Amino acid sequence: MTNVRTRFAPSPTGYIHVGNVRSALYPYFIAKHNHGQFILRIEDTDRKRFVPGAEDLIIDILKWLGIEWDEGPVGDGTEKGDHGPYHQTARREHYIKWAQKLIDKGMAYADSRSSEELEKLQADAKASHSLFLYRHHRPENPPEWDGHMPLRFKVTEPVDYHWHDEVMGDLSAGRDAVDDFIIIKSDGLPTYNFAHIVDDYEMGVTHVIRGQEYISSMPKYLALYDALEIPRPIFAHLPHILAPNGHKKLGKRDGAKSVTEYRDEGYLPEAMVNFLACLGWNDGTEQDIFTMKELIEKFSLDRVQRSGARFDEKRLLWLNGQWIKRLSLDDLYKRCANFWDENGRKASEDQRKAVLAVVQDRMKTLADLPSLSEYFFTRPEVNWDLIQASKQLAKRERSDLTSLLKKAETKLADESVDFSDEESIQNALNELLEETGEKPVIMFGIIRFALTWARFSPGLPETMRLLGRDETLARIEAAIYS
Ligand code: GLU
Repeated sequence: MTNVRTRFAPSPTGYIHVGNVRSALYPYFIAKHNHGQFILRIEDTDRKRFVPGAEDLIIDILKWLGIEWDEGPVGDGTEKGDHGPYHQTARREHYIKWAQKLIDKGMAYADSRSSEELEKLQADAKASHSLFLYRHHRPENPPEWDGHMPLRFKVTEPVDYHWHDEVMGDLSAGRDAVDDFIIIKSDGLPTYNFAHIVDDYEMGVTHVIRGQEYISSMPKYLALYDALEIPRPIFAHLPHILAPNGHKKLGKRDGAKSVTEYRDEGYLPEAMVNFLACLGWNDGTEQDIFTMKELIEKFSLDRVQRSGARFDEKRLLWLNGQWIKRLSLDDLYKRCANFWDENGRKASEDQRKAVLAVVQDRMKTLADLPSLSEYFFTRPEVNWDLIQASKQLAKRERSDLTSLLKKAETKLADESVDFSDEESIQNALNELLEETGEKPVIMFGIIRFALTWARFSPGLPETMRLLGRDETLARIEAAIYS
């Protein structure tokens, strides 16, 4: 079997939107599954849309996601791999060489027509309701190409096209789908249409995997493969990612955020990869959680669905929670470094780890950390209004609740309760229930509020072990005398 080589070919025109990541992940899986190579190529020929710094961002995000490329820029200004250069702007002579081949075959011509003339031709066609095809208006005696005029591909023999797409199936287009089109612009740089074909061939790319927006241009590409006598690679066009509410393509307005935003909001790269890989792909089982290694093992293009997949942020959040639960305490601790609040940052490593162990299961994102942990580091303000959040507690008189807290205080002050042992605390709490005849929801509910004054908090024994006896009693007392 031929050596499989795939590529991710982003244009450095801005941030990496989550939808673009799939165009990196799927070719990465295919290359690695087949023990082949994955290439990063920077398609920077559109100088008007070029954004400085965008390439660094791309590299940063790929690294963060754990996508490793074998060839391409590494991020320090150098490149690895022996099929370079991997920036299109550094490959001008490659394009000129292939363009010359077309000129020699009579399949490309210099276009000296001004944009005003072209617009007029198009307007005339529109006015007479006829399809505008440039090839019907070719200049009669094109000048020799001097490298400063656009170079146009010449459709010498219009034909119908048929091709196979690994995701979309068998596709075809009629002979009017290809018209003469620009391959080298007046700035001497190639268009995407031309450059990627030359690059994919010279870089030995076997599978072209990209978004479905490129399907409509496939006839042009096929015309070029034929004219340049380049064998066609395998094609796979990925369906759009749809906005959460359904039908249209996910765009910025629907909350299509950059990957960096998700990172800053405390999403784990494992969850992002898992989520994005499963947008429109499944392995045919009920499995939800996939590691990168499993995705490489199990991914195949024939299980990518043809219709668009909905971007469901709730699912991403759920997956992120699942991935946080799977982390070892040391790993979670490292990843949380930038997410503690001020008081958390002042605490010792042991204290922080103890808190993490207690809140880990409740964290959906790393950014939940301050709200889940703040009451361990600072004594919360008493806020009886919060009681309203519990239907059962809200029905009780405050004096009843304070008297329950007094009983709890007496019980927990007893030296026989060992605050370093959750079982001992739990036993004391159970005895408290028996002695007062109170319902757990009331007794434990009011103690929980007195200790944290938060809507949600971890189990009482864990919370009390972390706070220690003195702090537990001090908080109960603060509630009683507030
Ligand atoms: N530079 C193109 C883009 O960013 C890549 C398309 C392709 O993968 O061929 O969309």
